[in-house]
Amino acid sequence: MNNFEFKNPTKIIFGKDTISKLSEELPTDARVLILYGGGSIKKNGIYDQVKTALKDISHVEFGGIPANPEYSVLMKALKVIKEESITYLLAVGGGSVIDGTKFLSSAALYEGDSPWDILKDSKRTEVGMPFGTVLTLPATGSEMNSGAVITNAETKEKLGMGGPGLFPQFSILDPQVIQSIPQRQLVNGITDAFTHVLEQYMTYPAAALLQDRFAESIMQTLLEVAPTILKDSTDYNAASNFMWSCTMALNGLIQKGVPTDWAVHAMGHELTALYGIDHARTLAIIAPSHYQYNFEAKKEKLAQYAERVWNITEGSIDDKAYAAIEKTESFFNQMGIETKLSKYTDDFDGTAEIIAKRFTERGWLGLGEHKSLKPEDVEHIVHMAY
Ligand code: NAP
Ligand code: FE
Repeated sequence: MNNFEFKNPTKIIFGKDTISKLSEELPTDARVLILYGGGSIKKNGIYDQVKTALKDISHVEFGGIPANPEYSVLMKALKVIKEESITYLLAVGGGSVIDGTKFLSSAALYEGDSPWDILKDSKRTEVGMPFGTVLTLPATGSEMNSGAVITNAETKEKLGMGGPGLFPQFSILDPQVIQSIPQRQLVNGITDAFTHVLEQYMTYPAAALLQDRFAESIMQTLLEVAPTILKDSTDYNAASNFMWSCTMALNGLIQKGVPTDWAVHAMGHELTALYGIDHARTLAIIAPSHYQYNFEAKKEKLAQYAERVWNITEGSIDDKAYAAIEKTESFFNQMGIETKLSKYTDDFDGTAEIIAKRFTERGWLGLGEHKSLKPEDVEHIVHMAY
């Protein structure tokens, strides 16, 4: 096992009707900005629950943060933060609203010329404006981690940011929120969380027995609850296990002491930036090709995953490893996710070259657990995903 440090300061308030506890978490003298997305919270009652809980706390609102939080929209919210002397941010939404809020937390205290530089120059945020979240969509784990991904429609870029200042102070997780989530987003959530685990697990054996089993148990739980959730999102037991699995998939715990990959996300973000494909679907497009291309380096772990998660016990290491890739892809397919880029756009010619060129320009010359995946490898992988 590798050396590690672990600190996750986010307080989780989990369970039925927990949004009512919101005001207990906010400083009484806070001036709060509620941030939300396209308005789903106004239809499903979450907005009303938040407003009721905040009745004695000074607040204003900013809605309209789109899926794949857009820089130009966030800059309008930043203006509100300054004009309204906001001291505390409250994200009410999924990964997009929470990530957008993290950007604002950082940008609100940023002293440089343009907040885009936080993303462009990968500036770590040591201290941000305090914020909490009310999670409405289990998927990203953003509610209990310190990373965010922001889109710039003008430059067709999607870049990450992070730092110890960007953990939410608290996150409220009421599994009942999933009842109103459309099927497409539920499928996305399962796929994103599952791939988060793969990114931290599908590397090489690192003698981290417990982390491996944490990772495997999260994947097993997601596989177990997925059919129930997709059939009946009012099933509270399935909903609560789904929600907690998504949070645990990316709150830092399972990546401690082990190598991590994250190349699937790096390539996937480009597909969202170029074509607007849902984040989770970009991962399902890239992951099978990525594991095939890096088969030799990952096959021991792929075979372990085959045995422990998919119960594939017959055959050689190579047989099991191949079967595991197939099982993973058909899991995505069975939920209705296409795993080839050409199913999403007719305009895919040249995509691999564009992405490889971008990675070269950014100096991303060695991705993956061995930092060995060069832009030309990325080009191959994206080609395989056409
Ligand atoms: P999302 O983009 O936040 O939301 C997708 C859609 O679901 C929106 O239209 C949203 O509507 C709707 N929705 C959310 N909650 C709902 C509810 N309870 N009922 C009905 N509709 C609901 O989806 P996401 O998958 O959570 O986030 C994706 C973003 O997170 C991507 O930008 C991705 O890159 C990023 N990400 C971040 C991390 C991280 O660690 N920070 C990790 C992975 C991915 P409204 O707009 O009306 O809210
Ligand atoms: Fe993700």
